[in-house]
Amino acid sequence: MTKGTILSGMRPTGRLHIGHLSVLENWARLQDEYKCYFMVADLHSLTTKFDDTGDLPEDTRQMVLDFLSVGIDPVKSAVFVQSSVREHAELHLYFSMNIPLSWLERCPTYKDQLVQFEKQGKDITTYGFLGYPLLQAADILIYLGDTVPVGEDQLPHIELTREIARRFNFLYKTDLFPEPQALLGRFPMVPGVDGRKMSKSYGNDIAISASSDEVRKMVNAMVTDPARIHKDDPGHPDVCIVHKYQEIYNNPLLDYVQKACRGAERGCVACKQEIYEVVEEMLNPIRQRRAHFETNSYDALRGYLLQLKEADAAGETGETVERNADPVIGKFKQFTGTRREKNYLREIGQDIIDDYLQGTISMRDVLDILDARMDLVNLILLKGRDRAKVRAAETTAKVREVMNLRY
Ligand code: SF4
Repeated sequence: MTKGTILSGMRPTGRLHIGHLSVLENWARLQDEYKCYFMVADLHSLTTKFDDTGDLPEDTRQMVLDFLSVGIDPVKSAVFVQSSVREHAELHLYFSMNIPLSWLERCPTYKDQLVQFEKQGKDITTYGFLGYPLLQAADILIYLGDTVPVGEDQLPHIELTREIARRFNFLYKTDLFPEPQALLGRFPMVPGVDGRKMSKSYGNDIAISASSDEVRKMVNAMVTDPARIHKDDPGHPDVCIVHKYQEIYNNPLLDYVQKACRGAERGCVACKQEIYEVVEEMLNPIRQRRAHFETNSYDALRGYLLQLKEADAAGETGETVERNADPVIGKFKQFTGTRREKNYLREIGQDIIDDYLQGTISMRDVLDILDARMDLVNLILLKGRDRAKVRAAETTAKVREVMNLRY
């Protein structure tokens, strides 16, 4: 049975926090059922942060590490940065030519966000911000995505994507684009440690990448019942943030805690210690995976390449032919037998050369390792970009054809 296709992404706004975990864990589960493309949506971040791009490279890297550490598998799924697949911008441009302005202006979040940013003294009345739902539609449709995992608040955007697909198919008498279906998920809203929305900018977040000491500090800072001054004062769990966490993380002692708190038989220190342990238990495997992806030894890179090769051979990635047929192989062959080749090989490293000569890794892999500067995250993003590009290029070629852009 052919797998459905999913595209999902997040803006690189800084390190992700435990409030994002349920969405990411859902992505990780979907990888077995769908062909998945997961992207860092850096172009989307420009719609509101066009004048503040200094942190973009590091934020992007940290976000990719967050994805990988939570269980996004770069062998099963294409993990890439949106702007590295230029076809997203190309399809967005084509859509911008045939979608009425009123469709974008009536988007429920458009006016709200303009007002919110205005209050912060920022004018985001740009062409790009208005067109952001079009870019989102291009992101999904360029992979012929038929399924989009979303929360309820994003349903209007999916409906707009469906309308865009319909209009394009109608105008150009084609059935190129599917009308993607929303795959609704319920994701618990984890509050920040001060009870407001969890956000890095409020400084009330527990990052996915937090150390044990950082977790301890944030749990200690959690707001409890403000009316409870002494341990023998009866407490009110319903206004306590620690208790919210107990509810979200399904503490088996919930009933007992509520009774003991109300009866002044339990202190807040015990509750906080339990939450600290629950969060630590959740983050420990994530830390281990993160450490693996931060290891930039050739062994780590090689391990990833071999897994990818195996998946290619089993036909699980679907992009084998295009990658192996890359003309860079020809470029390397120009060097054969010359002094330039020897210099080139010295630069690469003997273990990599041996693997290449034995056919363990391809010339394309060698060049990617060099381009990635022996960095595993960079290598994953290069491979992810190439995999994403295969389908993105196919789709835009078909779009140009049906739009009669033939030269
Ligand atoms: S005892 Fe527990 S539930 Fe009650 S106020 Fe303290 S932290 Fe909250």
